[in-house]
Amino acid sequence: MDQAQLVDPHTEIRDEVKKLCARFPGEYWRKLDEQRAYPTEFVRALTEGGYLGALIPEEYGGAGLSLSAAAAILETVQAEGCNGAACHAQMYIMGTILRHGSDVQKKTYLPKIASGELRLQAFGVTEPTSGTDTTSLRTFAKKEGDHYVVFGQKVWTSRAEHSDLMLLLARTTPKDQVTKRTEGLSTFIVDMRASLGKGLTIRPIRSMMNHNSTEVFFDNMIVPAENLVGVEGRGFRYILDGMNAERLLIAAECIGDAKWFIEKATAYARDRVVFGRPIGQNQGIQFPIARAYAQMRAAELMVQSGLAKFEAGQTPGEEANMAKMLAADASWAAAEACIQTHGGFGFAEEYDVERKYREARLYQVAPISTNLILSYIAEHVLGMPRSY
Ligand SMILES: Cc1cc2nc3c(=O)[nH]c(=O)nc-3n(C[C@H](O)[C@H](O)[C@H](O)COP(=O)(O)OP(=O)(O)OC[C@H]3O[C@@H](n4cnc5c(N)ncnc54)[C@H](O)[C@@H]3O)c2cc1C
Repeated sequence: MDQAQLVDPHTEIRDEVKKLCARFPGEYWRKLDEQRAYPTEFVRALTEGGYLGALIPEEYGGAGLSLSAAAAILETVQAEGCNGAACHAQMYIMGTILRHGSDVQKKTYLPKIASGELRLQAFGVTEPTSGTDTTSLRTFAKKEGDHYVVFGQKVWTSRAEHSDLMLLLARTTPKDQVTKRTEGLSTFIVDMRASLGKGLTIRPIRSMMNHNSTEVFFDNMIVPAENLVGVEGRGFRYILDGMNAERLLIAAECIGDAKWFIEKATAYARDRVVFGRPIGQNQGIQFPIARAYAQMRAAELMVQSGLAKFEAGQTPGEEANMAKMLAADASWAAAEACIQTHGGFGFAEEYDVERKYREARLYQVAPISTNLILSYIAEHVLGMPRSY
């Protein structure tokens, strides 16, 4: 047993999640992948098990667990070959309502999110023209009496077709009328059930993997003023407040992916006999897997360091960013080693390697790309000039 497992306070959660995941084997995910369908039964099982409400405080019907417990849940989901991307956003999006929402919003939404009555899976930030340059987004929400009227477009809004609510970031003051470009953006809870067909259009995007991503169009969509989260114009700050938790949770998922690939690769390397001996006897096969394992363990320590800082009430910006990058790199190294170890069979759907390989690639780009993490480290940690 390794050191991390010796001190792991979440072994019970991991064991329970593992049992749940065993009900959703590779063939379940393969079929969904083929049909680009949503894992409704899996999401329901996670919700009923209380896992998606892990971070919602008990007073609002959640489990009131720590971020490291939530990370353990998502890591286990990935390590067991399942895909938390279908629902992981709910864990961190609801944090915006929890931290900045009104009492009424918290009482209205959080218990229903915890029970699964409402899904808050959609996060509308990225737009086609602004991309990573979030403060240049163009979706505009104009206040008219007791409501806002929203015009604009989002892209890559994952799970919008399978969510009841969306957390939307929109401009409420034009960029040229604010002193800082981070001001004048606001966050809204959009009830998509009420708006669909009434100013809200959702179009699925077929992509490399089954991620249920969409384009979302707002054309005169009405959002009640009471759905504004916190103070108008402070939305960007609210979104940033949730980024460290988001990055640490995604990093934990990447660690889980890396563990899955490493397990799968080593098992195959031991069993597959070519030239009269297991392929795993060749150092050319061993070394990439061993290297990926070392990378994964190092990244895991960074995730733990970020989680510890977060739970001590500090701001782990440096650790969360580095954890996300290192864990995504480790999972990608493990994915490469795994597909190479499998030779031709790595490309056959029934081994699940090619599917996981496609899924793991995303985390070099989303929710934040590696370049932007490196820019963060260069500027905010190392004190070099801002490059953009
Ligand atoms: C499957 C999927 C699901 C997603 N889900 C969501 C979601 O639910 N909600 C949501 O809001 N968004 C979502 N996204 C969007 C995702 O967060 C963005 O794709 C990502 O942040 C990159 O933005 P972009 O695609 O516009 O790339 P761009 O900003 O156009 O960047 C393109 C490339 O240029 C690089 N680049 C840009 N600027 C710089 C710079 N200054 N220095 C160095 N390199 C730079 C980037 O790193 C990137 O590699 C999703 C994306 C995908 C693919």
